[in-house]
Amino acid sequence: MNVDLKSMTLEELGDFFRQLGQPAFRAKQVFQWLHRGVTSFSEMSNLPKSLRQQLEEHCTLTVPVVERRQESKLDGTIKYLWRLSDGSCIETVLMRYQHGNTVCVSCQVGCNMGCVFCASTLGGKVRNLTASEILDQVIFTQKDSGATIHNIVMMGIGEPLDNFDQVVRFLHLVNHPDGLNIGMRHISLSTCGLVNQIDKLAQLGLQLTLSVSLHAPNDEIRSRLMPVNRAVGVERLMDTCRRYFQTTGRRISYEYAMIDGVNDSDAHADQLLALLKGQQAHVNLIPLNNIEESPLKPSRRVRQFQQRLEAHGVTATVRRKLGGDIDASCGQLRRKQMKESGALSGKEQPQ
Ligand code: SF4
Repeated sequence: MNVDLKSMTLEELGDFFRQLGQPAFRAKQVFQWLHRGVTSFSEMSNLPKSLRQQLEEHCTLTVPVVERRQESKLDGTIKYLWRLSDGSCIETVLMRYQHGNTVCVSCQVGCNMGCVFCASTLGGKVRNLTASEILDQVIFTQKDSGATIHNIVMMGIGEPLDNFDQVVRFLHLVNHPDGLNIGMRHISLSTCGLVNQIDKLAQLGLQLTLSVSLHAPNDEIRSRLMPVNRAVGVERLMDTCRRYFQTTGRRISYEYAMIDGVNDSDAHADQLLALLKGQQAHVNLIPLNNIEESPLKPSRRVRQFQQRLEAHGVTATVRRKLGGDIDASCGQLRRKQMKESGALSGKEQPQ
């Protein structure tokens, strides 16, 4: 038996301790210890010693180790590269915004989605993270940095809806009043557009913000940038997004990475406006980060594009670039580590 207690809900912990013949209040005690980030069962000082020993023998306690830590001198952004118990590495970023400290978490080791502008997908997906491994990123970032986390964005390595069950489990855990108690409205989940899973998520009625990585106003460009589009297409994605809004009442945020000469013309802005017509949408324009090996370069037309959208009544913001002096964009630090450790072959280049 190797039970991952931290991935369990309070109710599941209740069943677990009942089966061990323990009183009902043990579940809450253990839940609170786990969400405070204890690194061994022996720290659970209000548990009988015999029970702590029993847990030590039969349960695992996930504790990520800081492999690298980069702190921006410009704005205090901290990027963590964590090593997990199986040796895999994932990234987490702490960003300090005026509206509170925000942590960007990973949900998979690598990613299978193949977006051409993203360093996280270059080696493919290695595995899904467990709910506890996603939760640990929030707990241990908070513990290491001393910063209280107010907001969570699921925009790190991996596609959250490709790890649906563990991600939903994580959302319920991090939202729990006996845990970190982070409100659903303070959580954003970003997807490249897995339509069936978006429908499934809508049925849960969670009050989080769904961010759809759109990045292109038509199938021709989007299929080139994001292979996931080849199977679904922009129109079907838009239908799904409209349905999501009707079911949840939550406005969708569309992410749009501005790429020089690819998706940043006035004509592209007009196509985007046509796509979003009649939707309660918000567009978040993202100044592209330079990836060393990528031919895609940052657009110089971000402001003009934004103004064109706003002139036609679509709310558009430009994401503030944080951590400019560190490897703060998704997948870069993990990739650097893989290169240095010889885990990457020279063949893995962006398309
Ligand atoms: S942008 Fe997101 S979905 Fe696309 S490859 Fe990168 S991690 Fe995966």
